[in-house]
Amino acid sequence: MKDDRCIFCKIAAGEIPSATLYEDTDFRVVLDLNPASKGHALIIPKEHYRNLYDLDDALAAKALVLAKKMICKLKDVLGCDGYNIVQNNEEAAGQSVFHFHMHMIPRYQGDTVGLGWHMGTLTEEDKKELLEKIR
Ligand code: 5GP
Ligand code: ZN
Repeated sequence: MKDDRCIFCKIAAGEIPSATLYEDTDFRVVLDLNPASKGHALIIPKEHYRNLYDLDDALAAKALVLAKKMICKLKDVLGCDGYNIVQNNEEAAGQSVFHFHMHMIPRYQGDTVGLGWHMGTLTEEDKKELLEKIR
């Protein structure tokens, strides 16, 4: 399914030009317009899914395999020192384009890419509550 109002549907379909690194029947991989670092790229499925909550299971599996293939190749091309795979779901988590995508962000030793968080402490109360609810 496509969404006429969705920019990533149009990019994935090739209706809007993009710097495409790879394409197959399911996905297009493009350079991000606002890269966090040199080589920041996005894996975009050609079908419209809002985010990981909705993504088809088989496509989800293919997306991770594709991410692996892409970063194994790109790390040699870019000469980067590491990689972050980032995938945001909903506004509270930083999602701004509501068509599923995975970020592949090359990391260079000493770079200033800000993906960190403050490390808290797992409390006994939270642990007990969550383990009870999830089981
Ligand atoms: P999100 O915040 O939804 O996880 O990530 C959206 C990403 O899409 C951002 O990194 C943003 O720079 C990128 N982006 C937004 N519009 C376009 C576009 O038209 N073309 C490309 N290549 N990237 C885009
Ligand atoms: Zn879409």
